[in-house]
Amino acid sequence: MHAVQKFHPAWIEISRTQFLKNLQAIRKKIGQARFCLPVKANAYGHGLIQMSRFAEEAGLIDYFGVAYLNEAIALRQAGIQSPILVFGAIHEDQIESLLNLQVSFTISSRYKAERVATKCRELNKVCRVHVEVETGMQRTGVRPDSVHSLFNYLEASPWFRIEGVYSHLATADTPDDLGTQKQISLFQSLREEFKHREWIWHLANSGGVLYYPQAHFDMVRPGLLAYGYYPDGSQNTEEVIAPCLELKAKVSYFKVVASDLGISYGHLYKTKQQTRVITIPIGHADGYRRSLSNKAPLLLRGNKFVAAGVICMDQFMADIGQFEGYVGDEVVLIGKQKDQEITLWEVSLLAGSIPHEFLVSLGERLPRIYRS
Ligand SMILES: *Cc1c(COP(=O)(O)O)cnc(C)c1O
Repeated sequence: MHAVQKFHPAWIEISRTQFLKNLQAIRKKIGQARFCLPVKANAYGHGLIQMSRFAEEAGLIDYFGVAYLNEAIALRQAGIQSPILVFGAIHEDQIESLLNLQVSFTISSRYKAERVATKCRELNKVCRVHVEVETGMQRTGVRPDSVHSLFNYLEASPWFRIEGVYSHLATADTPDDLGTQKQISLFQSLREEFKHREWIWHLANSGGVLYYPQAHFDMVRPGLLAYGYYPDGSQNTEEVIAPCLELKAKVSYFKVVASDLGISYGHLYKTKQQTRVITIPIGHADGYRRSLSNKAPLLLRGNKFVAAGVICMDQFMADIGQFEGYVGDEVVLIGKQKDQEITLWEVSLLAGSIPHEFLVSLGERLPRIYRS
């Protein structure tokens, strides 16, 4: 048993082996294309530094993708040496750190490029950038009709070196989507025009990698898939890609409750007869969402039960009827126990959420325990 577990009764277990299997399987799918691993938002809740180290040490990725500068700083401070691309917006004040840390970042407008150029002139330094092009997400990215003038500006400026060009897919979670096909052809035709440049062209998120091989281009950026989840919730049984994360806790209290008594805040659950009730030490402060009240599934001694009443900030209860379950028993909230399984997809949907959001909401209070 891992040391941290002694100090906190709920935790996240992560399998390094399964994570690396996922990365290998993605490599196989993408052939010669480079692999940019999104590790933004604490590596989708799995732990930024640890997951990045696993990936880098195994030599399975070419780039790390982060949303913000602070995440890139944390990676470099931890000794991560691979190229890093910051997807999100950059403020001029951050340029100096970006340059010192050897981090590439995104340019998505002429306006931003000019601010950055001013700063580069001041520091007398050249920036490595990826240009983000709008092809259908309508989030950030230069419009296709302005892209030529932006390329011209960046190539003429002494302060920039264009390293890549990318865009983001909006509806790639299912195969054969027309909008996605449009985005791909728009991107493809732009790439055709500039094919003599040595730029890295990248478009595919998890859905793009799985369902649109023509979207792989020179690099891919699958986040959710790398952590073991399919973007449409399907579970491909012959596939080696599988979740590498489990959420567990230890029963912290056991009692017998008489018939017709309300459990937890607001008494939204009432006992129907005398019954056994356990308390589980995880709550909405840990990202175990309140919307799971009366719904959260859990595994105890190989049986499946459901939360009784409201999920509190730090704990919740479950009615286990006449089954056995005592203080110290291990409870699985996401993952496998005996022949039973609770999937992240199942819990996310019950919570009115999606795997991306559920994962990144898992609180800092939960220790991450890394198994080989
Ligand atoms: C988050 C993100 C990704 C990864 O998306 P998934 O759906 O997790 O595969 C790829 N590219 C960009 C720009 C992102 O922000």
